[in-house]
Amino acid sequence: AAEASRGRGASGLLSDIQTTISSDAFTDHYTLIPGKELGRGKFAVVRKCVEKCTGHEYAAKFMRKRRKGQDCRMEIIHEIAVLELATASHRVVNLHQVYEMASEMVLVLEFAAGGEIFNQCVSDEEDEAFSEEDVKRLMRQILEGVSFLHQNNVVHLDLKPQNILLTSSSPLGDIKIVDFGLSRMVSSHQELREIMGTPEYVAPEVLNYEPISTATDMWSAGVLAYVMLTGISPFLGENKQETFLNISQLNVSYSEEELQQPDRTALSFIQTLLRKQPQDRATAEQCLKHPWLQFSEVQEPQTAVEEQQASSSTSSSTSSSTSSPEPAS
Ligand code: ADP
Ligand code: MG
Repeated sequence: AAEASRGRGASGLLSDIQTTISSDAFTDHYTLIPGKELGRGKFAVVRKCVEKCTGHEYAAKFMRKRRKGQDCRMEIIHEIAVLELATASHRVVNLHQVYEMASEMVLVLEFAAGGEIFNQCVSDEEDEAFSEEDVKRLMRQILEGVSFLHQNNVVHLDLKPQNILLTSSSPLGDIKIVDFGLSRMVSSHQELREIMGTPEYVAPEVLNYEPISTATDMWSAGVLAYVMLTGISPFLGENKQETFLNISQLNVSYSEEELQQPDRTALSFIQTLLRKQPQDRATAEQCLKHPWLQFSEVQEPQTAVEEQQASSSTSSSTSSSTSSPEPAS
């Protein structure tokens, strides 16, 4: 009964929301920016808009209530409920308002002006691609968000570069996790097994129809770190079958030069996540303590003081501003 009153069904979907669903015409309150489609998925179109009474910019996610002949309003309500639950985290996109029409619902979301990290992951331009310091900072933020979700028993199940947005692209801002369309509540007494997610980022247990857990997201976090560092999707094959085979056989190359820095901490980080057995993978909290993600002198002066005093005596200004490997002495 307690479970039911909290609105958590066997399917891992939440059904209670606080947000008022407005039946006003969306366009009475917002102006859609013409030609500004921010993105689209299978059942949603996201468009930039401006709230008339404030002039503030938002991203409006238009979601069809019927998909493949099925009523999916429950799933949209769940997505709203998860966004509400995550308002306490800066790493998750904020939900401003919700509108409902005959066949659609509109989630008015905080606008992430920097777009998907995907664009910078795959960029060929040297100056557009992330530096290792960027990747570390963004990865830390992603893990903070994921840690928050997991502490609240939410698994995202679709962590990928298209669902990690940036508040600004240059200068590089902060990340916002979006798209809780596949997210679920995990509980200790209900097993969750569902085929879903995006082939390239999906964990072995999902392919094998084995139980899904917070560790399922941690696999995807490992794939994310790999892609952000190298620009290469580690398991992507010529087709879905090949991708799935690569994942289930853990067929991944660690020979990329970005993973071969002298201390190999990035490599070690990724290897704590890309493990076949979910229980062998690091948790989000453990990842945040991994040596690779510890603050460098340049970024966090206050944490570097002790290190600096311990390691060098006089050369305070010579600490490098990049992570490029120093010639071995
Ligand atoms: P879907 O469930 O269809 O994948 P998403 O929530 O992932 O929907 O949104 C689709 C795309 O729209 C995202 O990948 C992103 O490019 C863009 N988008 C979504 N939310 C925002 C936002 N708050 N600010 C800017 N762009 C967004
Ligand atoms: Mg998406």
